[in-house]
Amino acid sequence: MTAEKMSFKTEVKQLLDLVVNSLYSHKEIFLRELISNASDAIDKARYESLTNKDVLEGEGEWKIRIFADRDAGTITVSDNGIGMTRDDIIEALGTIAHSGTQEFLKALQGRDVKDNPELIGQFGVGFYSSFMVADKVTVISRRAGQSADKGVKWESGADGSFTVENFTKEKKGTDVVVHLREDEKKYLDEWEIRNVVRKYSDYIEHPIVMDVVREKESEIKKGEKYKTTEEEQLNSGKAIWLRDRSVVSREEYNEFYKHISHDISDPLEVIHYRAEGTSEFLALLYIPSHAPFDIFYKEYRIGPTLYVKRVQIMDHCEELIPLYLRFVKGVVDSSDLPLNVSRETLQANRQVEVIRNSLTKKVLDTLGEMKKNEYEKYTGFYKEFGTVLKEGIHYDFKRKETIADLLILESTNKEAGTYTTLQEYVDNMKEGQNDIYYITGTSRDEVAGSPYIEAFKEKDYEVLIMLDEIDDIIMGSLGEYRGKKIKSVTKGDIELDKEKQAGREEAQKKYRGLIELIKVKLKDDLKDVRLSGRLRDSACCLVSDEGTMDPQMEKVLKAMGQDVPVTKRILEINPEHPLFETMNALFEKDRGNPLLDEYASLLYGQALVLEGSKPKDPAAFARSVADLMTDKAEHQIGSK
Ligand code: ADP
Repeated sequence: MTAEKMSFKTEVKQLLDLVVNSLYSHKEIFLRELISNASDAIDKARYESLTNKDVLEGEGEWKIRIFADRDAGTITVSDNGIGMTRDDIIEALGTIAHSGTQEFLKALQGRDVKDNPELIGQFGVGFYSSFMVADKVTVISRRAGQSADKGVKWESGADGSFTVENFTKEKKGTDVVVHLREDEKKYLDEWEIRNVVRKYSDYIEHPIVMDVVREKESEIKKGEKYKTTEEEQLNSGKAIWLRDRSVVSREEYNEFYKHISHDISDPLEVIHYRAEGTSEFLALLYIPSHAPFDIFYKEYRIGPTLYVKRVQIMDHCEELIPLYLRFVKGVVDSSDLPLNVSRETLQANRQVEVIRNSLTKKVLDTLGEMKKNEYEKYTGFYKEFGTVLKEGIHYDFKRKETIADLLILESTNKEAGTYTTLQEYVDNMKEGQNDIYYITGTSRDEVAGSPYIEAFKEKDYEVLIMLDEIDDIIMGSLGEYRGKKIKSVTKGDIELDKEKQAGREEAQKKYRGLIELIKVKLKDDLKDVRLSGRLRDSACCLVSDEGTMDPQMEKVLKAMGQDVPVTKRILEINPEHPLFETMNALFEKDRGNPLLDEYASLLYGQALVLEGSKPKDPAAFARSVADLMTDKAEHQIGSK
């Protein structure tokens, strides 16, 4: 059968164009990507061979081979792993939309990736990096367990199309033949290959071998030399997590991290330990330095790679780590789990729970230590992953206090960029202050001028500033800390001064009629109108009942297209503000004055603006304000 010509999927085409035309540095990483794919293919075959001996095809040893062919100008990475069928190859190397491709294309528009093509692996498009050095790539493959004539040959010159044809391949697995461009022939040098493998692929568990020509001295005829070819292993090859911590260098840990995470940066922290006792396992975990672009996406794959007695079982085992630690990457190698565990049986497995508890504790302890001993590093971590970590307060009831201790928080008593903790907050509470207070918002500036904290400022009470969308839910879930209630300054009735309580009751009597009138006027929008204990300078504000959703969260949910039940709020007015004295005089003179209606709407409008929302009818609101401005100006120049 002749070769069939097919087109790449559009986005793959775009991707290839960019790889060929814009990536110029660190081109050697193409070898790392091909070796990494070969290693994954072997892991898959080894796993499948547990239940299906046919895929072994009598071959005992898993190996990745590199051939450099000077005459042909090609470098080939060959594996005896799982291989691909014709359909697999068409899909994997040409037509499937790789999850990261869109993001990669976006990132390529920026400078970051152009200067750092190592990023390419992060987006799951590693194979295509071979086109940085090749004008043509040929892939010959055969699915393990199928007959030799079921092989397939794929070929492309990155010109928008590729060909596929049937091909007889004696051994299972895949050969990727990279036809090097004239100016990239250095990758044929033994020395160069050796260096690249050492640098980027030393951690690969399977042997990476190459035939090397050695000159030897004849044993028969002294002084005479002859050439011999020997297969030599280029990587050290022992799985890194099996080695003792004391003999693994930080560089080795880092390279392995880059292999499993597809991250370009070094990890922030390495956690490597052996658990003994109720459960025997080895864990090598990493806390990355930067959040991956997709950590909040549904497609983000969670959990370390699970090995059972050195055999890779699955590459992202969600059951091993709670969702709020989903930034953790790594490997867990268990001695107790059965080799035939599956995603379904994992869930009910006791051992898995033991491992999960151990990993969770270890990561939280490590973060606690980091916060104590390496504060700057910790704040770096927190900026990247704090939002994810605090989800744990909501989801992990048992550990919510532990996680609460890991929070670092902005507050009205701290400069921007410096933080307090709940413990420090409690230690600094003022005489007579019973509760912990926080305010949510979208920026520090907005919060700093907020009417909600006027009374707190006056009393010099510290207010925690929470700017993450989920903060209100998190603080609500936490509820209290070290016996102190946690309260939102925008919710419930707040009166910090017992003495002022009496004054409020008096004002209540005085303004009863006016308040009734405002209530009636705004009854469709508001649950209640009452006098405020939290305002000092502002005229009014909107508050919610305790335990209800705050307006930030409402906005987020609405933006996500969710049906948010309308919760009516309470308008609080400041009895000390001169406006109410005036309004009340107007009211007492003529309670039918239409100006009172307009003022009631304006009060509600400004309360909405103050909490960061829009007035119900922005045009009418603006008109009223303009009218008032005109009135005041005319009044001043005496034309009225
Ligand atoms: P990734 O490896 O991140 O999925 P790649 O672009 O490097 O992305 O590879 C695409 C797909 O091609 C792989 O997911 C795999 O299915 C297939 N593939 C690549 N190389 C091999 C190989 N040596 N053996 C078997 N399959 C392979």
